[in-house]
Amino acid sequence: MAKCSICGDKAIAYVPYQRRYYCRRHYAEFVESKVARTVERYRLIRRGDRVVAAVSGGKDSVTLLSTLSILRERIGFELVALHIDLGIGEYSSSSRRIVEELARMLDAELIVYDVGKTLGFTIPSASRLTRRPACSVCGAVKRYIYNSVGVELDAKVATGHNADDIIGFAMKNFIMGDLEGLSKLTPIVPGVEGLAAPRIRPLYSVYEKESFLYVLSKGLPYIHRDCPYARFTSLEFQFKEFFNKLEESRPSIKLGFLNSIARRFKALVREGPYYACSECGLLSSSSTCTFCRLTRRLTGKPLGRRVRLSVKELLDERIKG
Ligand code: SF4
Ligand code: ZN
Ligand code: ZN
Repeated sequence: MAKCSICGDKAIAYVPYQRRYYCRRHYAEFVESKVARTVERYRLIRRGDRVVAAVSGGKDSVTLLSTLSILRERIGFELVALHIDLGIGEYSSSSRRIVEELARMLDAELIVYDVGKTLGFTIPSASRLTRRPACSVCGAVKRYIYNSVGVELDAKVATGHNADDIIGFAMKNFIMGDLEGLSKLTPIVPGVEGLAAPRIRPLYSVYEKESFLYVLSKGLPYIHRDCPYARFTSLEFQFKEFFNKLEESRPSIKLGFLNSIARRFKALVREGPYYACSECGLLSSSSTCTFCRLTRRLTGKPLGRRVRLSVKELLDERIKG
């Protein structure tokens, strides 16, 4: 039986690039210290910051909220969890229940944005009506709501993208020649005053497998099922598999790749000009932002302003509550 390299207890995992075994407790500490190092190294969070953590209920976002809850005490920042109910049947209702349970366990403040109740459509209905893939509609809706909450709260938006996600996106963007997409894969994407909240990725160097083992070792609740729209044949997914194979013979090659992305891709960041959407006032690359264009096609009216107003009301309720 393999033993923990730190305390000698029964090991639950081996980390090849460190050549170390870990017991349950020390494995959790290993992941927590990885996140702490990323936060420190890339200066993602400073004392006095406000951070909105996007929590879907999947293993990565659960790892995000748990590790940030620990760092909150150490660094001294305000942490708010944000869950978006996308209206994807039983998948969304289970995710919401799990996030509520997690927030109680971690004593984290939680804001739930219910897309169906507030905007009158769900991701499945929006996908049907616009004839766009569910994930493309979903991505646009989530990004818009995260940004609205971030701008309204003057906060940084933390997402649970892990190391494998970043590598998958990087390879896909590279193949498509999407330099702007590549420039946004750094651990922190700066905000634009009043238009876009800064985005941070504290799990930048945490492998997918590590966040899975983290939630298990801490006994945290997470959603076990996959979203019915998740596709395991996408280019990103195939690149993830390819890099996992490569990592088996060359441990830490993924970490090396991520370091180069973090160091080199900043040079690709476009420094403005920045435009405000003529409908909602948030960041846009053209006169009308993606979300306002999408919702105009869907409902006949751009709904950016409505989202911003509903976010304000939700945050006002939070202050009163
Ligand atoms: Fe949204 Fe697609 Fe993820 Fe489902 S798999 S939550 S539709 S982005
Ligand atoms: Zn141990
Ligand atoms: Zn807009």
